[in-house]
Amino acid sequence: MIKAILTGHSRGLGAAVAEALLARGIPLLALARSDNPALFAAHPDLVHETQIDLSDNAALEAWLQTPALRDFLADADSTLLINNAGLLQPVGRVGEADANAIIRAVAVNVTAPLLLTNAFVAATRHCADRRVVHISSGAARSPYAGWSVYCATKAALDHQARSMAAEHLPGLRVASLAPGVVDTGMQAEIRASSVEQFPQKERFEALKSSGQLTAPEQAAQRLVNYLLGPNFGDVVDGDLRHLPD
Ligand code: NAP
Repeated sequence: MIKAILTGHSRGLGAAVAEALLARGIPLLALARSDNPALFAAHPDLVHETQIDLSDNAALEAWLQTPALRDFLADADSTLLINNAGLLQPVGRVGEADANAIIRAVAVNVTAPLLLTNAFVAATRHCADRRVVHISSGAARSPYAGWSVYCATKAALDHQARSMAAEHLPGLRVASLAPGVVDTGMQAEIRASSVEQFPQKERFEALKSSGQLTAPEQAAQRLVNYLLGPNFGDVVDGDLRHLPD
């Protein structure tokens, strides 16, 4: 039986990934600050939601000490972890950021995925097939003025994936994938930045107005097809738009 753990299922790309997994009948343990009532209503037998603020690393670690994760995965022989939850803030030049916003970004974008990955790998030693995907960003690989914290956090995920892949743990495959420019709340947040905070703002406005953003459902289908497919993990730090299905 396949089972999946997903962060950030309440909206955006994560909500679409959840729907794509559930449509395939895959039971889901989903973590975010908010629930996703529509998802639960459509798949009450498959969705297990846990409300947690992933910026609170102590709360996450306390949850990981409970049997919840291990119990959920106990009867699975094939397991997935999708580290999707992420945040963009603080946007702005170095020297102008709120210190707590930097701490929050690192906690959600880096520490939480690393804690979850560590616990997932420990809890899935019985699984013949276990797969971890980090939702990275083009910002991990190209510098963007105004996004230094976001860029640094996503680059950290990429390098964690490369290092974990080098360990060749039994049955474990990993990839850190940029999803493309996806039409979610995060893109609205990008367009709401000022040019002073984010000099490339106009490029992202143009992508939206010319209809070039990818629908979350489309990105999610590609992600889930690749995640479940035979080639998953062949490319450790890739771009979803350039991978085979
Ligand atoms: P989004 O619409 O802003 O959704 C973010 C998700 O993360 C929400 O479900 C949110 O749930 C969860 N989240 C945020 N802070 C959290 C916290 N403190 N604790 C728990 N969950 C938290 O963003 P998105 O565009 O779908 O982004 C999904 C992933 O794709 C992110 O990692 C992002 O960096 C990456 N990405 C997106 C794009 C894009 O174009 N959209 C491009 C490259 C990479 P709650 O608010 O309910 O907690």
